[in-house]
Amino acid sequence: MMAQYLALREEAGDCLLFYRMGDFFELFFDDAKKAAAILDISLTSRGEHAGAPIPMCGVPVHSAESYLARLIRAGCRVAIAEQTESPAKAKKRGGSKALVARDIVRFVTAGTLTEEALLEPRRANILAAACELRGQVGIAACDISTGRMELEECAPDRLAAALARLGASELVAPEGWEHLPDDAIERPAREFASDAGEARLKAIHSVATLDGFGVFSRTMLAAAGGLIAYLDHVGRGKLPLLLPPEVRASGAALAMDEATRASLEILQSAQGGRKGSLIDAVDRCVTGAGARQLAEDLSAPLLDRQQIAERLELVGWLHEDALLREDLRASLRSMPDIGRALGRVVAGRGSPRDLGQLRDGLGGARTLHERLVRKDELPVLLTRLLPALAGHGALVDLLSRALVPAPPTERNQGGYIAEGYDGALDELRRTAGNARRAIAALEAKYREETGVAALKIKHNNVLGYFVEVPQRHSDKLLLPDSGFTHRQTMAGAMRFNALALHEEASRITEAGAHSLAAEEAHFEELVTAVVEARNAIAATAAALARIDVAAGQAERAAEGGWSRPEIVEEPCLSIEGGRHPVVEAALAVQSDRFVANDCRLSPQDRLWLIGGPNMGGKSTFLRQNALIVLLAQAGSFVPAQSARIGLVDRLFSRVGASDNLARGRSTFMVEMVETAAILSQATERSFVILDEVGRGTSTYDGLALAWAVAEAVHETNRCRCLFATHYHELARLAETCDALSLHHVRAREWKGELVLLHELAEGPADRSYGLAVARLAGVPAKVVSRAKSVLDKLEKGRAETGGLAAGLGDLPLFAAAEAAREEVCDILRERLKGIDVDALSPREALDLLYELKLQA
Ligand code: ADP
Repeated sequence: MMAQYLALREEAGDCLLFYRMGDFFELFFDDAKKAAAILDISLTSRGEHAGAPIPMCGVPVHSAESYLARLIRAGCRVAIAEQTESPAKAKKRGGSKALVARDIVRFVTAGTLTEEALLEPRRANILAAACELRGQVGIAACDISTGRMELEECAPDRLAAALARLGASELVAPEGWEHLPDDAIERPAREFASDAGEARLKAIHSVATLDGFGVFSRTMLAAAGGLIAYLDHVGRGKLPLLLPPEVRASGAALAMDEATRASLEILQSAQGGRKGSLIDAVDRCVTGAGARQLAEDLSAPLLDRQQIAERLELVGWLHEDALLREDLRASLRSMPDIGRALGRVVAGRGSPRDLGQLRDGLGGARTLHERLVRKDELPVLLTRLLPALAGHGALVDLLSRALVPAPPTERNQGGYIAEGYDGALDELRRTAGNARRAIAALEAKYREETGVAALKIKHNNVLGYFVEVPQRHSDKLLLPDSGFTHRQTMAGAMRFNALALHEEASRITEAGAHSLAAEEAHFEELVTAVVEARNAIAATAAALARIDVAAGQAERAAEGGWSRPEIVEEPCLSIEGGRHPVVEAALAVQSDRFVANDCRLSPQDRLWLIGGPNMGGKSTFLRQNALIVLLAQAGSFVPAQSARIGLVDRLFSRVGASDNLARGRSTFMVEMVETAAILSQATERSFVILDEVGRGTSTYDGLALAWAVAEAVHETNRCRCLFATHYHELARLAETCDALSLHHVRAREWKGELVLLHELAEGPADRSYGLAVARLAGVPAKVVSRAKSVLDKLEKGRAETGGLAAGLGDLPLFAAAEAAREEVCDILRERLKGIDVDALSPREALDLLYELKLQA
């Protein structure tokens, strides 16, 4: 056994090996130690290897899924080694001591799950592959639980942002790749071959060319090759459902990098869970598929005004008609997740219940179609979606006729094919039923014949049917010509066989085996029918999800008094009465009211500098505007009285270093790396929020950097920007930057208490109220009062010297400083060009160097 184990262990690579032994999956050696620690189960030992006891732990097969889920969540991958022959067969083959053959039947990894129990209903589960070809990066991504697959190509410096959008559970990439992302699983580079990728896709979809699906570059196909090769490896040659790949055009979505996504807490809060995230505050979908679609929409808001308008039109239509919306949501709520049921069926792990779900879901879609098609003046998007809801008539009818109303999850007991579907099957069932009735009748007959009233006919898995009588009544049955044969003696009872009983029992067994086989055959036929219709079923699932998203958004808008945003070309941002959906919801729990605020950015006034006390609501204001933009471009209504938004091409959100302590790298370094990205990438169409940038270093450095960054954003990037800062000194930028204006969150001190109004007002902040905030936070009065005396002293000094920003007024403008520097460079360059180095004496060279240094 050890030899077999070690061979499988070798094959499992860096996965944990689940080694099937009877009713348990056992783990040995380091696997056992690791799994026992993660699962908190006891670690034992068994036998010896190389003179030391072998550590071991195990989990019962019937509850293996929940253990698997925990291991996967902890970042493990698991290889499942099953017994591939029965112990009886092994004995026949090699005698009583023969070892049962085992083989790894599949690998369970985070990105390749299809089990309902291991998947979160409201989250897509993405497996991605990335590789590089001719200087471009290809990314292939799929959700094998529903089969969706998309391909994308981008420049290497966009890889991180693209992966951040996908949020993959698992990523594979070629071994030793220069741009290998941190958490990627390395696979042989030869697997990322575009020819193979193309050939596989053609074979999977039985087409001679992929042209019908879109235009795919070699780079994309190479990534697809890597993805499919990995799926092959994980499924041991059995591929899951893969729908025709879609091309994701680069630049089709509002660009957001990883830091922006994290800081806006779109799908996950800073604490890590869904609670407190944007999606948690806006998701009113009634189906898992809708929630997954919404997550995708929020991860990749649109850049096409037409598409946004179409989504908004549908939301608006459902917003106006509350009755229709409720009706629609009620039907959707009762619909099963057909996308995932399809995924399981195609992957070969489908159950009769999954077929039942497809029947109910597709049937539901058909009813919905009938209801909607009768309405007049349908929104454009809905007109396009509607056809996908119908068209499964024959399949629904077939499934309805074939299946019982509530089919089981297991096939081994049969009983899921409906009566009347197959005459021969009905006949077999009748035979078995008759035999069962005959056996019941036999009991009465035997009682009468033997005169033993306590005689019973029983059944167990070992003996099958048998006659049982109490020990003291067994004499008559033991007589040689009684017609009964003795089988077993129990404490107080004896068990017998009888010819008629045996015959009827055989009839039951035989009919049972035949009907099971017949049901199996029907199951396979039904699976084939479903597999053939897979693309159309997936389209239905997608259409239902889209409708659910729109209805959910309409519901959310109605619930919160949200409004329909207007998307325009001109780079403005006019939001009246804007609110932060997450903060507002949190405040509502404590019955506190959220104070709505306006934001009015335009080409003439595109940078707002926002001051005011800590806890005054600066971050909240910044983020609410970014979220409103994001929601609007995702096609949702927005938490504001009105919103007029000039299409944003890139969205950036940065938070000063000290809020980001958990990230490992020097926090100030992170802050600067992220700021650098904004300065190099933000365009005139971008929207940037900067929250206390420059905070992560000393006061002078921080002020200087904040100053320079604000200037650069104003002069060079010329994007719309909200900049929150506690450096009063920055207010002086207003003197030189004409599209910059000053704002602050209002606060008041009343009877020694600080009152934060969370209200945005024009003009610079008057004071910072730092000490008042400290008091509010419960810093001891003695410390606050000491701080007060220190502050008085400092402020006196500032009054005398002009403070931190003294003299900054004399600084040339950002652009002027740039121009001056360029000019000097030009002079030096000219001078250098004119020099014949070989003709210079050492002395002349030295003089020249002095001269150049002076000019520089
Ligand atoms: P700052 O960035 O100025 O330190 P925050 O934006 O973090 O302040 O806000 C601090 C707290 O104030 C929030 O957690 C919230 O409870 C409350 N708050 C912020 N904005 C508002 C608002 N507009 N209306 C009501 N409460 C608010």
